Amino acid sequence: MGTPRVVGRFAPSPTGPLHAGSLVAALASWLDARAAGGQWLVRIEDADTQRCPPGMGELVLSQLAACGLQPDEAPWWQSRRGDAYAQALSALVSTGAAYPCACTRREIEGALAARGVALARDAERVYPGTCRAGLGGRAARAWRLRVPAGTLQWQDRRLGPQQQDVARDVGDFVLRRADGLWAYQLAVVVDDAAQGVTDVVRGEDLADNTARQIALQQALGLPTPRYWHGPLVLAADGHKLSKQNGATALDLRDAAAAVRAALAVLGLQTAHRNAPLAEQLQQAVAEWGHRWPLAAAAHNPSQPCIPSKETP
Ligand code: GLU
Repeated sequence: MGTPRVVGRFAPSPTGPLHAGSLVAALASWLDARAAGGQWLVRIEDADTQRCPPGMGELVLSQLAACGLQPDEAPWWQSRRGDAYAQALSALVSTGAAYPCACTRREIEGALAARGVALARDAERVYPGTCRAGLGGRAARAWRLRVPAGTLQWQDRRLGPQQQDVARDVGDFVLRRADGLWAYQLAVVVDDAAQGVTDVVRGEDLADNTARQIALQQALGLPTPRYWHGPLVLAADGHKLSKQNGATALDLRDAAAAVRAALAVLGLQTAHRNAPLAEQLQQAVAEWGHRWPLAAAAHNPSQPCIPSKETP
C-alpha cells in the first residue's frame, strides 16, 4: 500500500487533562483527516517533561478514545524523540543555520535597552543577534536558528493569506533551551515531517508560530504542510480557555454532549440532540468535507520560497 495522501495529527501537550478547548482542536484535526479518507495520528508533546505530570498523556489518550477519536497508529511521545531532535540540530549547525548562544534573559534585555528598544511586560524579546558572530569566549547555553531576513508568506485554509517577517518580529529563536530541553518549534517541525503529516489542523492561538516553523522546515529541507487554524473556546476572562483560567477536565460521562459542544464551536451542528456519538461523528465528517474540502486547498510551496524583501 502506498503512502496515504492525507495525514493529519493532534499534538496535545499533556500539562493537564483534555478540556473543552483542546477537544475542539482534536476533533477538527480528526474530522479533516477522516473527511479526506486520510490517516489521523496523535503525538503527545511532552518534551517539556517538567510541565507534564506523570500519567497525563495516557489520560488524554483515554479521553480522546471516549470521544470516539482513535489514532490510526500508536501515538508518538516527544519525550522519547531526543535523538531525532539532536540529529536535526547538528544538521543545522553543520550548515551554519544554527549557532550556540551564551546570552541570559537579562543580557538580552540589556542589549535591547542599549538599542533604545522599549520593552512592555509581555512583549516579544526579539533576539538582538549578540552571539551570531560567535560566543566571544562565553559558555554556550542555548542554540538558536539563524533566521533569514525577509517576509515569509503562507496560506491558511481558514484564515487566508498570512505573512510574517520572522527576523524582525521574533529574531533568531531558540531550538534547544539553556536547560537542555528541546524547544517546541524544533520538536514540532521534526516530528511533523517524520510522521509524514500533510495537514496541520490546530487552534488559532498557534497561527503565529507557523512562519517560524516554515522557516525551520526550509532550513532543514523539509516539506511544508497545509495549515488550518481553528476557532478557540474562550474563558470568562475573554482569553483562550486553558488550565490557567479555569478550564476543567471534560466530563466524559456524556461524551456525546462534549462532542456536540465542540462541533458547535466548529460551526457544525447537523446531528439532533439525542443522536449517539458515532452518528454525530459520521454526520460531522460529511459536513466537514463540504465546508473544508482539501481538494480546493492551496498547497504551500514545498520548496523554499524566496523571501520577499520588505519594501522600505
Ligand atoms: N502541543 C501544542 C499545544 O498543545 C500544539 C502543537 C501543534 O499543534 O502544533 O499547544
